[in-house]
Amino acid sequence: MPISVLRLGHRLGRDARISTHCGLVARALGAREIIYTGERDQILLESVNETANRWGGPFSAKYEENWKHVVKKYRKRNFSIVHLTMYGMPVQKVIRRIRKKKNILVIIGGEKVPPQVYQEADFNIAVTGQPHSEVAALAIFLHEYFRGKELGKKFRGAKLKIKPQSRGKKVEGVD
Ligand code: SAM
Repeated sequence: MPISVLRLGHRLGRDARISTHCGLVARALGAREIIYTGERDQILLESVNETANRWGGPFSAKYEENWKHVVKKYRKRNFSIVHLTMYGMPVQKVIRRIRKKKNILVIIGGEKVPPQVYQEADFNIAVTGQPHSEVAALAIFLHEYFRGKELGKKFRGAKLKIKPQSRGKKVEGVD
């Protein structure tokens, strides 16, 4: 069940950290890719792709100029469009229906979300009706979608792996 994430409206400099975190959370919690729109940021793409390269995949980060083209393309590929917004329907009420969909494009906003996104989405989904963050909304949506199974996900081709410790840190190289 491939999940792709579309992160809207990246701004160079100002959004570097939060957009990186969107990519890291998408990968760590089971999505296959993240697509960024807004201002093209090569450093952001390299940093997220480098994490996937070292810690395993499959996962990739890419850039597309126009979010509408992305939605159109993924719709043609039979993806359902899920937009995360505090104004939407509560995730806990709708997640069973969404789990039945084969492929999902999850849209997360930035500072301003164009009104058309709400119309284009098959589902507008709220992770509580309170304002918070695209990183938190994405994490909780993926956790609900995968019913917690993503917590034990294995990452193919990892060069590094954590050996869990009750205290201290241990990172192992994988041959
Ligand atoms: N003011 C923006 C707008 O026009 O909707 C929202 C800004 S918010 C900081 C950035 C993104 O976080 C939103 O577009 C949405 O994807 C996500 N988000 C924030 N709170 C959310 C919530 N309660 N449920 C779902 N998504 C949320």
